[in-house]
Amino acid sequence: MSREQLAVERARRAFLTGRTKPLEYRIRQLKSLQRFLVERKTEIATALNKDLHKSEHGIPLFETLSLEGEISLTVNKLAEWAAPRPVEKNLLTISDQVYIQPEPLGVVLVIGAWNYPWAVTIQPLIGAIAAGNAAVVKPSEVSMHTAKIMEDLLPLYLDKEMYPVVTGGVLETQELLKQRFDHIFYTGNSTVGKLVMEAASHHLTPVTLELGGKSPCYIDSSCDLTIACRRIAWGKFSNCGQTCIAPDYVLCNPAIQDRVVEEIRKAVKEFYTDDPKSCTDYGRIINQRHFKRVKAMMEDSLVAFGGENDESQNYIAPTVLKDVKPEAKVMQEEIFGPILPIITVSSVDEAIIFINEREKPLALYIFSPDTKLIKRMIAETSSGGVLANDCLVQYSVSSLPFGGVGNSGMGAYHGKYGFDQLSHLRSCLVKSLSMEVANKIRYPPHTAKKVGWARFFIYRQVNLGRLGKLVLLPLLALIAAIALQRFLQ
Ligand code: NAD
Repeated sequence: MSREQLAVERARRAFLTGRTKPLEYRIRQLKSLQRFLVERKTEIATALNKDLHKSEHGIPLFETLSLEGEISLTVNKLAEWAAPRPVEKNLLTISDQVYIQPEPLGVVLVIGAWNYPWAVTIQPLIGAIAAGNAAVVKPSEVSMHTAKIMEDLLPLYLDKEMYPVVTGGVLETQELLKQRFDHIFYTGNSTVGKLVMEAASHHLTPVTLELGGKSPCYIDSSCDLTIACRRIAWGKFSNCGQTCIAPDYVLCNPAIQDRVVEEIRKAVKEFYTDDPKSCTDYGRIINQRHFKRVKAMMEDSLVAFGGENDESQNYIAPTVLKDVKPEAKVMQEEIFGPILPIITVSSVDEAIIFINEREKPLALYIFSPDTKLIKRMIAETSSGGVLANDCLVQYSVSSLPFGGVGNSGMGAYHGKYGFDQLSHLRSCLVKSLSMEVANKIRYPPHTAKKVGWARFFIYRQVNLGRLGKLVLLPLLALIAAIALQRFLQ
């Protein structure tokens, strides 16, 4: 039996003991995870610095604080999320219990990516634990130092049979994907996303795919360009552009293009000094393969500023490309690096057409003081999420579902959405053995009169207020029952 198979089997056996069912168990595990994040800050930071040159103070901001926040929210809300959820009743169900009962799915596979290796691997794990599942955690081998820390230290804090960490590369992930899971939660690129979905189909396993894509950023000419460009520069160049929701490219009117370039240049200097290479807050490309891929994207476009690079350090300076053609290399795939192309459009109409001609992105950014324009762009485009007048911060709002649409993914998580995503929302209808008279409608012999009554019960929309629901609906049901008794004898 392979290592991967063994881990899945053990997790399944642990799940079948039923020990994840009590909420106290889940809360204990979540609090232990919280403790891990606090106690192992140094190990986490050292590994992230080796993997991606992440800075000491940047790490809490971009990786761990959101996890700590997610854990405390989950611990506080778990009883509410896991409780039965009563649903609306109608004349037919008035005397029944009608509710949704969230229940664990079983064993979840979490496959993480390397760019924010803690955020994208541990956040789904929080949802899996909260929902009462077992989970096999597969960190990305690309951020190898972080993967090692997860493998060595997580088992010291979590139930290691229930939440095993399996490290390795493509082969090991493929071996895992052959196993039977009850849900697969994958974060990474769309090409591998398709392979994950194909593998999942063999066991009819549902998937959440958190993918990427080219997230557009429209800048309206009427907006405060200094503020807009500062926010865009932050969103683009954080983590050296390796952020799934980074603005991939800018769309703006040719008349403001040079000012946009200038303002972004100023913001880059403000954040990363004149020499980003020696600035601790400026990251590196994850490896040489990605360095070469990103560098090649600049080849057929005009560099407005930046472009400097150093292969020995996988360093590429914050770069803006101007007057970029839609056919340029940089526009053919997600950039995932510190290069920001500007494509000029003559109007918001042209921007909308440009966006709609392409795959649905993970995020759409709109910069404008005009609410009507923002609402129009929201109405006439589609994307996983929209953020107006800022970048990236939608990720931190746990009351909003985070996920893609179309090519940028399927399913969503964060907060209650993560809990729901990894739960089965079971429909429960508990009837009593009384009220048999109402059932006569559906029992043979079928007659026109019975169909008439069925129509009354099923299609009659009774629009009652809260009080009406409490008082009038039972009354109506009673009258209907008496009438039925009389007419269906
Ligand atoms: P990656 O190379 O780390 O791959 C992700 C995972 O897939 C890894 O665990 C890896 O082992 C596994 N994998 C790779 N090739 C495989 C194969 N052939 N078969 C089976 N498994 C395989 O990460 P990546 O794909 O380079 O990540 C970057 C992408 O992820 C970008 O497109 C980015 O936009 C996206 N992303 C999305 C989100 C989100 O929340 N939507 C977050 C982060 C990254």
